Amino acid sequence: MKIRDILSKGKPTLSFEVFPPKTEDKYDSVEHAALEIARLKPAFMSVTYGAGGGTSRYTVDIASKIQKQQVTPLAHLTCVSSTREKVQSVLCELKERGIENVLALRGDIPADKRVEKDYQYASQLIGEIRKAGDFCIGAACYPEGHVESVNKAADIHYLKEKVEAGCDFVTTQMFFDNNILYNYLYRIREAGVTVPVIAGIMPVTSAAQIKRICAMSGTYLPSRFKAIVDRFGDNPAAMKQAGIAYATEQIIDLIANGVNGIHVYSMNKPDVAARIQESLCEILR
Ligand code: FAD
Repeated sequence: MKIRDILSKGKPTLSFEVFPPKTEDKYDSVEHAALEIARLKPAFMSVTYGAGGGTSRYTVDIASKIQKQQVTPLAHLTCVSSTREKVQSVLCELKERGIENVLALRGDIPADKRVEKDYQYASQLIGEIRKAGDFCIGAACYPEGHVESVNKAADIHYLKEKVEAGCDFVTTQMFFDNNILYNYLYRIREAGVTVPVIAGIMPVTSAAQIKRICAMSGTYLPSRFKAIVDRFGDNPAAMKQAGIAYATEQIIDLIANGVNGIHVYSMNKPDVAARIQESLCEILR
């Protein structure tokens, strides 16, 4: 099923994310986690794409296994480190396996800055996917601005380019203060971006994880969230419980304020996905 059709029903949707293994020896455990999450029957499940494209086979394989469980898969695809030929071959494989949804991304610029010349921005990839077949296309958006963008207005301008190139919905980078999203939604709607926006929520389950997130994306941490990390950061079980509760509260507030699309960065953790879903069962019914 196409994700744009799932979203068009106007009901709250909960989706989860998994990431493929970097090496073959981890494949079975990742597939097992993905299938456990699929058993929860989320609205859809996304499978990320390794930055350099070296593990693209795993993305397609896991997405295909999810599809066999009657859960709609969303395969991520990055372009900046890929050739046009490689992108076309992944799209062919997705088509062959009946995978209809692609999240089109530029990908991060590698530390050594060695990229291929075929693509500079996700909008180019989106245009190409649009021509390649009847895919439903998603893209990334950044309520706090992308780390490389000069300012938030420029970032929204380029988001609009992605929509004009043919994307059907956008999923946000994680955020920990819902007011940031509400303000962003107002700004992108004013700018004429009308596609559905899915809110990306990260349940932070360890203090190390939050340090990594902040180092990578500079995400704003509200004082209420910092207090949780300060108090429970060195107690893994308590931190996990508090992190799941914080994410669940964020989701309830979002749905209460009309944000229907919720995507949980579940990081191959079926227990985290299950606990969030269980806490929302009546809200999602
Ligand atoms: P773009 O939309 O191309 O934007 C990149 C930067 O260029 C932005 O600063 C933008 O403002 C600017 N820009 C865009 N167009 C132009 C233009 N025409 N001229 C000048 N500047 C321009 N990474 C992975 O490797 N694998 C994944 O599976 C993955 N999944 C993700 C899922 C989500 C929901 C999100 C939010 C991010 C994900 N990422 C993933 C990370 C993503 O690849 C990085 O954030 C990357 O740096 C930007 O990708 P993008 O598609 O947003 O790029």
